[in-house]
Amino acid sequence: MTGTEGTSRLDQLRRSLDAVRARIAAACAAADRDPAEVRLLAVTKTFPATDVAALIDLGLSDFAENKDQEGGRKAGEVARLRPGAEVRWHMVGRLQRNKARTVVRWADEVQSVDSAPLADALARAVANRIERGERSGPLDVQVQVSMDADPARGGCPVDEVPELVARVDRTSELRLTGLMTVAPIDSGQDATFARLERLFQQVRRDHPGVVELSAGMSGDLERAVAHGSTCVRVGTALLGGRELASRK
Ligand SMILES: *Cc1c(COP(=O)(O)O)cnc(C)c1O
Repeated sequence: MTGTEGTSRLDQLRRSLDAVRARIAAACAAADRDPAEVRLLAVTKTFPATDVAALIDLGLSDFAENKDQEGGRKAGEVARLRPGAEVRWHMVGRLQRNKARTVVRWADEVQSVDSAPLADALARAVANRIERGERSGPLDVQVQVSMDADPARGGCPVDEVPELVARVDRTSELRLTGLMTVAPIDSGQDATFARLERLFQQVRRDHPGVVELSAGMSGDLERAVAHGSTCVRVGTALLGGRELASRK
């Protein structure tokens, strides 16, 4: 033992963050891409605000949650633990329209916009807050694409994406930044990511503001980076298994 490698949560997170960054760097090298093009989003669902604070101390600034209530609570806790820290919160989970009013209070970006009614509800919630002087600008959003039309993971079917993208792009309360997908876990992922990449290029031609492709998680970030992902959403590889974390 040299005494330099402790076993505290901070040390654990530092090691896993180094490992994830190394994976991203290797994937970028293999794809001949600049690692600065790929953002790391830490998916902190089920993990405590103290873990987020530790990741802030290690230099991360972008965090994602998949539930409105948990996200709102954690964002508040983190603001108290690390006042003044530059943090951006991303909502990446399925969102019901009736949560639009609460999600816009804490999320800097909603990546999981998958229907016109949800987009409209978010726009109304933003407009309300602007009217009351509680915010000044639009909400960053991404359109979530369903690559296999499995309703369980949410997302807009591929053939309806151009219409939804156009609608979001002309909504002044929303600022469309990109596309997001949760790829199926089964085989054929490479083909799925290739199709996603083509869709992304196609959407970009008509909507130059669409610059982000949020794809890739702990298990498939290399494939996603190979196919143009600009934002990988990593939970397990950074923070550990969620079953363990959520067991009471
Ligand atoms: C949980 C989650 C992730 C992270 O998944 P891991 O496999 O733990 O890295 C990414 N995206 C979404 C939408 C999620 O819900």
